[in-house]
Amino acid sequence: MSLDKLMSEAKSLASGHITESAELVMGDGAACGGVSPALALLSADEAEAARILQICNACRYCEGFCAVFPAMTRRLEFGKADINYMANLCHNCGDCLHACQYAAPHEFNVNVPKVMAKVRVQTYTDYAWPPTLGALYKRNGLAVSLAMAAAIALFLILAVAMTGSLLHEPLAGDFYAIFPHNMLVLMFGAVFGFSVLALGIGVSGFWRQVSPGKASGPAVIETTKDVLRLRYLDGGHGKGCNNEDDAFTLWRRRFHHFTFYGFMLCFAATSVATLYHYLLGLPAPYAWTSLPVILGTLGGIGLLIGPAGLLWLNFTRHPEHGDDAQKPMDRGFIVLLFLISLTGLALLVLRDTRYMGLLLALHLGVVMALFLTMPYGKFAHGIYRSAALLKWAIEKRQPLKVKLGSD
Ligand code: SF4
Ligand code: SF4
Repeated sequence: MSLDKLMSEAKSLASGHITESAELVMGDGAACGGVSPALALLSADEAEAARILQICNACRYCEGFCAVFPAMTRRLEFGKADINYMANLCHNCGDCLHACQYAAPHEFNVNVPKVMAKVRVQTYTDYAWPPTLGALYKRNGLAVSLAMAAAIALFLILAVAMTGSLLHEPLAGDFYAIFPHNMLVLMFGAVFGFSVLALGIGVSGFWRQVSPGKASGPAVIETTKDVLRLRYLDGGHGKGCNNEDDAFTLWRRRFHHFTFYGFMLCFAATSVATLYHYLLGLPAPYAWTSLPVILGTLGGIGLLIGPAGLLWLNFTRHPEHGDDAQKPMDRGFIVLLFLISLTGLALLVLRDTRYMGLLLALHLGVVMALFLTMPYGKFAHGIYRSAALLKWAIEKRQPLKVKLGSD
């Protein structure tokens, strides 16, 4: 297909508008008429993404911004799997909206970050396991609030049941004098195990649908680097994302790094403490200078700075960058991470006082709320985006199937 033909198709798609487009692609085979089977069964948001990608594929101005555009140029049409893959490849940096000559008020009304955000949350819902719980993505702010309230109430009640009161004589930081170790392992192990299983089943369904091909060692290494560096939050030019306007900022990337590495350090602290307990026979509490406490403290500080910054960016974000309906999910997750860190650090500082039981119940409640909502909330974006990045690292090493100019 020539570029002229692509552009004229893009114009006709743009003038056809999404309602007509969505009806066309959502019909049965006969109703689809000349539409390829690859375009069948698209939702309205996916059809809008396909329309926009057709326009972008003729324009190609944003090719250097992120992996979405080079992935797009390897295709001439966009089926459900392609759109789901590219939606998760988009890091919502906003750069292609501010650069776009076809954004509103142009009649093409191109807005890549917004439509990708809408499709992205739909993919989490579509692949969720068990499927009925996928609906929680749509009401995630409420789900997080209810999970947090219920989990905190549960641990407060348990603390009173175990010790007779939320306040007590100082216990030298011995958490297990309030909640027995085996009880905590059983409760958190069961919920965490279910969450990992649910997320794993969900993302493996996504992986099968996007048919990535075999992952080579270099592809895995490149993906790992891209994930750890959050490469595509640099906007492709190193100056960063757009946030409230067309000025670039690297703070979105930095606050994501604080959050990600803060979380990983806290996870490492828990893992090291588990090894201490089971391998070395050294149960908590641990000294301030011990490895679990140092890792947990550094992680906790990162998990205060990162979410606080992300919340500030979220409130000042340009309204056209994303999907307003997802703001409760984004903010609920950010606040949850912040509260985990705040209660964890407060617990560490006050663990030798009579408030330890109360703070421990609050901390365990918010951690449990995170574990409960992990497969049905914002946490999923890191897993799906990593899978999409791996698909891109595999795909870019495969021969180009599209031969523009050959017709
Ligand atoms: S977002 Fe706009 S400028 Fe960028 S490739 Fe698409 S149509 Fe072109
Ligand atoms: S918003 Fe950013 S990451 Fe998403 S497609 Fe546009 S340039 Fe790429």
